[in-house]
Amino acid sequence: MSEMHDYIIVGGGPGGCPVANRLSADPKTSVCLIEAGGPNDSATVRVPMLLIANVPKKNAFNWAFDTVPQKGMNGRIGYQPRGKGMGGSSAINALVYMRGHPGDYDEWEALGCPGWGYKDVLPVFRKSENNEVFHNEFHGQGGELNVAALRTDNRYHKILTDMLRDAGLRETDPNGAEQEGYSVAQVMQKNGERCSAAHAFIDPIRSGRKNLTIHLNTQVMRIVFEGKRAVGVEVMHKGQSRIIRAGKEVILAAGALQTPQLLQLSGVGRASDLQPLGIQMVHDLPEVGYQLHDHPDFILGYHIPDADGLMGLSPKGLIGLWNQWGRYKAERRGMFTSNFAEVNGFMRLTKQSPRPEVQYEFVVGLAINHARTLEPRHGLSCHILSLRPKSRGTLKLKSKQWNDAPLIDPNFLDHPDDVRELVEGAKRIDRLVKASKQLGTRIKRDLFTADCHTDADWEAVIRERTDTNYHPVGSCRMGTDSRAVVDARSLKVNGLEGLRISDASVMPAITGGNTTAPTVLISEKCAEFILAGR
Ligand SMILES: Cc1cc2nc3c(=O)[nH]c(=O)nc-3n(C[C@H](O)[C@H](O)[C@H](O)COP(=O)(O)OP(=O)(O)OC[C@H]3O[C@@H](n4cnc5c(N)ncnc54)[C@H](O)[C@@H]3O)c2cc1C
Repeated sequence: MSEMHDYIIVGGGPGGCPVANRLSADPKTSVCLIEAGGPNDSATVRVPMLLIANVPKKNAFNWAFDTVPQKGMNGRIGYQPRGKGMGGSSAINALVYMRGHPGDYDEWEALGCPGWGYKDVLPVFRKSENNEVFHNEFHGQGGELNVAALRTDNRYHKILTDMLRDAGLRETDPNGAEQEGYSVAQVMQKNGERCSAAHAFIDPIRSGRKNLTIHLNTQVMRIVFEGKRAVGVEVMHKGQSRIIRAGKEVILAAGALQTPQLLQLSGVGRASDLQPLGIQMVHDLPEVGYQLHDHPDFILGYHIPDADGLMGLSPKGLIGLWNQWGRYKAERRGMFTSNFAEVNGFMRLTKQSPRPEVQYEFVVGLAINHARTLEPRHGLSCHILSLRPKSRGTLKLKSKQWNDAPLIDPNFLDHPDDVRELVEGAKRIDRLVKASKQLGTRIKRDLFTADCHTDADWEAVIRERTDTNYHPVGSCRMGTDSRAVVDARSLKVNGLEGLRISDASVMPAITGGNTTAPTVLISEKCAEFILAGR
């Protein structure tokens, strides 16, 4: 007899953990969460700054995918780190709690997603949240996801926020009434430790709920269908494959890259893509894997030789780091609680823009090239993101092998507006930094943009250096039109039964901000739909 549960959830990230928590609250409902990676209880997950050990390379915590060569990036291959193990990408991410602009959700509603407008989603954000800082109508207390102030008291916070204030910008709560402006990051941490989706939604219930089964180091190879109904999954664990059956539903939460991959491997996708690979079709759903998009990210970098204030590799810096480790162990404060993207902001490029087009994230160190190239210097960097890129890409299979990495094509910088926004955003921040009384004179070297004088110079360097800000979405778009992959009123996969999606892949348009909180929202809504019998 195969193992059987009411619900099978594939993936233990922000899309999978909240729905697992909510469904298993009823002791009569059996829930099985299947995660390809492990428990993620290591210090490199818990200690915020040690994300630097996991992001740059493939290891137990990171799938570390590559993109196909990107035309808009001069043919370069992009990097797509993706978290593996409990917490998914929220176990390796930069911990910034950011919901996006209220208008993003009203846009979702206008795109054919009734019930996803800002007035509908705000109570859901509040329900998941335990915000230690803000107690007002925008924030929640008592929810599972802990949101805290940064516990690193870096003096560059003041230098940067003074610079931004002197430039006429306002300090705001970007998750509150007004997104435009700047703030020191609100982070998904508790007592100076990472609060991943698994720490928040699974750890507190893990031992108390006998109806919740978690299979780790178990990769789903395909969804098992009987006709058009999903009845289970085939998994691989320690070299052995087996079937786990779902009495009610299979919920895919494998993320914006691996959810469409699993559907395609299971015969759900564009027939003209799948049949040539020898995949037997279950359902022709042409948009699976299409509409993939992501925030393109260009990084400004300045060498500032300040070993007391800025992270970096130098004898003095390393001694400082050692002292900081002692402080972290004793107080759970200081540099080891850093999320790198410590000071964030949003800017509108024209007075008429209804929403900011650009986000900037200041890092008090030279963390560039995904920290894969270690800079032997101290300095400051700033990520510039185009928040609503118009470029659309694809996620396709390389072969019908379940363990082949997919072909990831975010199609970065295909649309000229995406380039224009990065050029404008980068120019403005560069001007601010260089004009700043506290920073301008301390810059020893502008690492990448010293020779940028014209917009064409900026565009050239942007095409040469841009890559992801780690937010792939949209590859299984929700909507109410006939081409949508999932129905926005239920998150059920169109044309099939017993199958839903609960992760970043369903976003019809990327939010203007980081994507964990919106994915937790999607997972909460998925649970609400199921519990309401939709
Ligand atoms: C380096 C980095 C930095 C980031 N920084 C931030 C930030 O500061 N703030 C923010 O809000 N967002 C950030 N993000 C983005 C955010 O983490 C993601 O948007 C979010 O985690 C998406 O959630 P998800 O559940 O859709 O997918 P994921 O979090 O990727 O989870 C998917 C899970 O499914 C599992 N899985 C996949 N395939 C299978 C399979 N076949 N069988 C079983 N399990 C499977 C994976 O192992 C993984 O655990 C960052 C991401 C990265 C990678």
